[in-house]
Amino acid sequence: MQHVLVGEQRMKVLTGGLLIDGTGRAPIPNASVVIGDDGYIKEVGSLARLPSDAQVLDVAGGTIMPGLMDAHVHFMLAGEPHFESVFLQQPIEYMAIKATVSARHLLAAGFTTVRDVGAPGRLAIALRDAVNAGLVPGPRILAAGRLITATSGHVDLLPPGVSRADGTAGRIADGPAEVLRAVREQVKVGADLIKFCATGGVMDPQLPPDVPEYGAEEAQTLIAEAHKMKKPVAAHVHGAEGAKIAIHAGVDTIEHGTMLDEEAVQLMKDKGVVLVPTLMPSYQVRQHGSEADLPDYVVEKFNVTSAAHGQSLKMAIEAGVPLALGTDAGTPFFPHGVNAIELQLMVEGGVSAMATIVAATSGAAKALRVDDITGSLVPGKLADLLVVDGNPLEDIALLQDQSRLQMILQGGSAYKDLVGTG
Ligand SMILES: [Zn+2]
Repeated sequence: MQHVLVGEQRMKVLTGGLLIDGTGRAPIPNASVVIGDDGYIKEVGSLARLPSDAQVLDVAGGTIMPGLMDAHVHFMLAGEPHFESVFLQQPIEYMAIKATVSARHLLAAGFTTVRDVGAPGRLAIALRDAVNAGLVPGPRILAAGRLITATSGHVDLLPPGVSRADGTAGRIADGPAEVLRAVREQVKVGADLIKFCATGGVMDPQLPPDVPEYGAEEAQTLIAEAHKMKKPVAAHVHGAEGAKIAIHAGVDTIEHGTMLDEEAVQLMKDKGVVLVPTLMPSYQVRQHGSEADLPDYVVEKFNVTSAAHGQSLKMAIEAGVPLALGTDAGTPFFPHGVNAIELQLMVEGGVSAMATIVAATSGAAKALRVDDITGSLVPGKLADLLVVDGNPLEDIALLQDQSRLQMILQGGSAYKDLVGTG
């Protein structure tokens, strides 16, 4: 097993709370969770007897639920308005310092696992290892390494004629031979998954979002090589044509998926491809930015993708496509730590509150391939959990209020505990 964070502690029992176990099962009132001194969950539910030698913590009035997960963050960014200028101005060392601060903000917001889907060099990989080693506080991190993108694609970031010695987040690769090598490079430096751009993007002046970056042969070569090396593949996708190329080639998760069509959605359902909707970037820009702060090309592209995004998500919900919560944290006006707004946007977009919590816990854990150790509160899983003041099924927005996060446990160890100490 990888990415296990376990501290030394004594057995504890949380009791008297509403249990939302993250599997989608109905909540259980007045439930208990028994956490062993190894950080793993031993017993869950309406327990007749509690272990006599445990520390008992009364959480009446609160909800016990799994720690939140975000399947789509970018530690290289911290909400800067100009995506491109970050790569013209910030050295990777500066980005790494930002990333350690962002990691703490994510954990304080109740996110105990996140997936970084693209950073320069080994930025997110090194942060993952530093968190695992206990050097800095942060969520469990799965990291994609660099994003594989085509020349003129979404992460071909620098203006023509400009380069930087330490590279950008984009690993530019064209043709089957180059994408093969690009996959192997990410695996060599320790990537947990492979991320590639199947279509153009929004934050850059390159290809329009509905245009595919790669042909079928390139996509098939890339994904087959990643799967051979036992790495799942996430595809940045806006338009339906690029989505279908990625889905037919065997992709595991579709990120954004703003402009899907019925055929793409049905293919996702049939093949079990997970949708990571990332509703927050356009919301954050509307709330906190103004068009004057953004380059014109971003405003134009945003208008195209946001107009289609709601309908795309509705089709996916109706077809029963599996969902994992992801936010694109770090994009303009979106600093890490406010990620729980995404749950509210999913509910407003038509996902039930329970299905949204599943997408943010066990659904994301499956997409991230860590469901053997975390993502639900059942015996045998790590105690990555939250105690929340109130019931998020009745008011999903309360997860945004950090003063209501009374307890944040990672592998049974308290990052925050206002219950045992309060
Ligand atoms: Zn992204």
